[in-house]
Amino acid sequence: MTSYVFITGGVVSSLGKGITSACLGAILESRGLTISMIKLDPYINVDPGTMSPFQHGEVFVTEDGSETDLDLGHYERFIRTTTGRNSNFTTGRIYETVIGKERRGDYLGATVQVIPHITDEIKESIRRGAGDADVCLVEIGGTVGDIESLPFLEAIRQMGVELGHDRVVYVHLTLVPYIKTSAEIKTKPTQHSVKELRSIGIQPDILVCRSEQQLPQEQRRKIALFTNVPEKAVISATDVDDLYKIPAMMQREGLDEIVASQLRLELAPADLSEWDAVVAAKQNPDGEVNVAMVGKYVDLRDSYISLSEALLHGGIHTRTRVNIHYIESQDIEARGTSCLHGMDGIVVPGGFGDRGIEGKIQAVRFARENGIPYLGICLGMQVAVIEFARNVAGLDGAQSTEFDKSTPHPVIALITEWQTSAGAVEERDEDSDLGGTMRLGAQSVDLAKGSLAASIYGKRQIRERHRHRYEVNNHYRERLEQAGLRFSGLSVDDLVEMIELPDHPWFVASQFHPEFTSNPRDGHPLFTGFVLAARKHKSGELPRAAEG
Ligand code: GLN
Repeated sequence: MTSYVFITGGVVSSLGKGITSACLGAILESRGLTISMIKLDPYINVDPGTMSPFQHGEVFVTEDGSETDLDLGHYERFIRTTTGRNSNFTTGRIYETVIGKERRGDYLGATVQVIPHITDEIKESIRRGAGDADVCLVEIGGTVGDIESLPFLEAIRQMGVELGHDRVVYVHLTLVPYIKTSAEIKTKPTQHSVKELRSIGIQPDILVCRSEQQLPQEQRRKIALFTNVPEKAVISATDVDDLYKIPAMMQREGLDEIVASQLRLELAPADLSEWDAVVAAKQNPDGEVNVAMVGKYVDLRDSYISLSEALLHGGIHTRTRVNIHYIESQDIEARGTSCLHGMDGIVVPGGFGDRGIEGKIQAVRFARENGIPYLGICLGMQVAVIEFARNVAGLDGAQSTEFDKSTPHPVIALITEWQTSAGAVEERDEDSDLGGTMRLGAQSVDLAKGSLAASIYGKRQIRERHRHRYEVNNHYRERLEQAGLRFSGLSVDDLVEMIELPDHPWFVASQFHPEFTSNPRDGHPLFTGFVLAARKHKSGELPRAAEG
């Protein structure tokens, strides 16, 4: 029987509801419970796949291939369970299902309404997403008081009544601001937010109060009094310099214990030693590297959150401080590669659209010609192939058909656009499994014997997650190989998954996204390998590259 913890937010957005939920999950998991996590998003988009990373941050891809909210990335970095297509749903998806049922006549002539039809569908989706975990943590996106989130709040209110107080816990995250001019801590926004929640029938059991400094006893008492929450359940969550310190901080505040006792769970004490080790490794590096991330959405860091975290995990596992320098690829187009001087490693992340492409290609060339460790991810692998085709293999004007349909050398193209040397078009099309549509989710990759990739992973078969449409054009493989590019990873159906340059000290790129499976406790071989290579480059231990 699954119990539920519902996490809502009040006062303002961006208080870190996703992280708070994930950290509570981490502590409960360390006490021996199985955990599942769900994010409910009140917006109308059916999934976040179509939303601009500028507005909404990264799209996180799950093992089973759904495009989800970036909070699921936080969950997977903090807990051991993998999330999936049932772990994230939006108002759009709920309505789509309900309207589909209405069209099929499933409601037998009833008037279809928000209550009960929409709320029933929400509850059903929550139960499905919870699976058979001991505790399911459900984060409700948005802020209490938003029009959009009302049906979700109504659904979780109903679940509280149906399941009872010992199976449902309501956690509300609020902001307790400090007003500098009067040197006062203000509890009024929290009072109002809870009032709003209570007006729709939800009495929170726990308040997690975000504040710059530890909440003084007097303010806790005041909040408790005005919100009808026990004083010990008014938790202070102060700002920290490292995310991975939060599980220990919340545990010290007793968050997990309050949840456990309300749910009547007798649990082993929390064992956060793995988290302590992560924090200690991060705080006591014995080396430092500068890594350039040459991308497009660099103004909004959330667009590359999994990748930035994965690089830091590489640092944790090699005791290295990784300083990430975010570089707008268009700046390289305008001002050249001088910003890359002094970098110990260069990363080109995934992306869509042609803006800044030439800048990325220049960054690849710089890494290749100067023997600087290079890690290319998805689009970062495609630009590496384009750069190599143009500047080493002599294929002038090589390009991806994503950016130029009439390129003389479509080294990257949709499978439907590949031409055989005889001029026949590839047989695979949109209807075949890996056709012109997006390739999504985890698939297995075979690594070539003796390749750098195989030695980095320490095995010959891996599974990694994908999110892309374009592929390396197999009809160019032989020419590129002859010019010195190694295709070190292939999918079971012979698509290029990884490339490397045997003449270069560390030049590795993947069509898949390794960042989605990196977590702070285990790290990820590609990122660990990259950071180690950057360290060796810095200390001069790596050989210089042969000029391309
Ligand atoms: N735009 C490229 C494609 O669709 C790369 C996608 C990505 O980097 N995620 O293949």
